[in-house]
Amino acid sequence: MGKKTGFMEYSREKGKEQPPLERIKNWKEYASRLTDEALQIQGARCMDCGTPFCHMGMEIRGSAAGCPIHNVIPEWNDLVYHGKWKEALERLLLTNNFPEFTGRVCPAPCEGSCTLAISDPAVAIKSIERAIIDKGFENGWITPRIPVHRTGKKVAIVGSGPAGLAAADQLNQLGHSVTVYERSDRAGGLLTYGIPNMKLDKDVVERRVQLLSDEGVHFILNTEIGKGVTADELKKEFDAVILCTGATKQRHLRIEGSDSEGVVLAMDYLTSTTKSLLDSNFEDGQYLDMKGKNVIVIGGGDTGADCVATAIRQNCKSVYQFGKHPQLPEHRAVDNPWPTNPQVYKLDYAYAEADAKYGRDPREYCIQTKKIVADSNGHIKELHTIQMEKVISDEGYVYFNELPGTEKVWPADYVFVAIGFEGTDSGVAEQFGVKVTNNRIAAKVTNYATNVEGIFAAGDARRGQSLVVWAINEGRNVAESVNSFLRTQAIAQ
Ligand SMILES: Cc1cc2nc3c(=O)[nH]c(=O)nc-3n(C[C@H](O)[C@H](O)[C@H](O)COP(=O)(O)OP(=O)(O)OC[C@H]3O[C@@H](n4cnc5c(N)ncnc54)[C@H](O)[C@@H]3O)c2cc1C
Ligand code: SF4
Repeated sequence: MGKKTGFMEYSREKGKEQPPLERIKNWKEYASRLTDEALQIQGARCMDCGTPFCHMGMEIRGSAAGCPIHNVIPEWNDLVYHGKWKEALERLLLTNNFPEFTGRVCPAPCEGSCTLAISDPAVAIKSIERAIIDKGFENGWITPRIPVHRTGKKVAIVGSGPAGLAAADQLNQLGHSVTVYERSDRAGGLLTYGIPNMKLDKDVVERRVQLLSDEGVHFILNTEIGKGVTADELKKEFDAVILCTGATKQRHLRIEGSDSEGVVLAMDYLTSTTKSLLDSNFEDGQYLDMKGKNVIVIGGGDTGADCVATAIRQNCKSVYQFGKHPQLPEHRAVDNPWPTNPQVYKLDYAYAEADAKYGRDPREYCIQTKKIVADSNGHIKELHTIQMEKVISDEGYVYFNELPGTEKVWPADYVFVAIGFEGTDSGVAEQFGVKVTNNRIAAKVTNYATNVEGIFAAGDARRGQSLVVWAINEGRNVAESVNSFLRTQAIAQ
């Protein structure tokens, strides 16, 4: 423990953020880091508790408590406090393949479980994590680690999201020859075409993909397994295959008028915007422009928030985000005690931007869209809604009652549908003969093996739409399991 009284002397300070009205004029990352001195003070706030809940990584009632990859947080907090940045980097890389991603986009369940957070604001763990890795790259401490020995075993990974990349990194370092197949034109999965540039700059993703490539991982882009290359071809050529195909099959809105022009799936909007930005800085016009439009996002989650922030940067006339659930409380509810992930009201980046630009938080709570009405050209004109009341029965069942008299009509030029994901595209799994249950590839968490020998699955494709940090966790774990499988195979030969 660096400074015994640090937690009493210093206040929490998180990373710097460009003011909302400034940052909405561009697509650059809005968050940056504090000075080294300020970060050392933040490190000094860590109490080095006897039982550090921040790195337990347990799932309690469906959400994470503590870091899912068990980052050794108190250790690197102490090293940062003492100015030992390189040593802190070494500790961080023991558990996290890509801190530059989590340090930017992780919702930081570690901070919700920080012991200091019982009485005071949590230690700024995520900011410290990002600073350690960013300094590592800036100082040239991160260089390609090319394996000295190759085992002669070949592994194919389908999908280059964080799960696929983490598995590739681990297996490559163990000496196996890894080929990653990706159907998109760029690697990274949702890190590239999902999370918007202002949250995670795509140069940061490309830098990591380049590093993995320099270390020997072979990337084959623009290739959809199951179409261009078949499952049988992969089975024949490789000793093991890992399916990390994500869970981006979107849930469609099925109400009257939802086939109107201007009703668009959130992922189509986000993906085309990022692609056009990366390809041509929007010169190619291959994106939907919300300039001067009334925009409504249906779906109260993070994907919807990213649509809000994207539409604001395009100068939309108005933007609202409809959610089914009531507004979260300011403080933890009794059934959401520490160290579980705090379910409390926050003004996330997109909402702070809407608030600054339009003078209001764009979220509308407990609202149900009843129908969509189009104009004579078939383009959306308005949305009809009703307010709802959330009721919990004595048996604990949750249901929603419509409140008569609360009907409302909203003018809208575009509606983005962000009501969640159904699961993985089952086509490729079925081609491998792999079982899919409830839209997830069936593979046990104990070994990530599917019902077909030599075929494994990890990430959102296995667990359902989740978080980058869980994808990294699954990528690391499936690699361990594949390595055991390959070693057993080698002994048997
Ligand atoms: C809009 C949005 C914003 C998000 N923001 C955050 C955030 O801020 N923080 C956070 O922690 N999490 C966030 N998430 C969740 C996070 O991005 C995912 O949980 C994570 O990326 C899952 O990783 P994965 O590797 O399992 O799958 P993915 O990242 O989905 O990658 C799967 C890859 O497989 C490829 N693929 C699929 N089928 C084939 C095939 N047959 N052949 C070849 N390639 C194929 C896909 O093209 C894709 O590139 C967000 C998700 C969305 C949708
Ligand atoms: S990966 Fe996420 S949960 Fe883990 S230490 Fe970093 S911010 Fe916290």
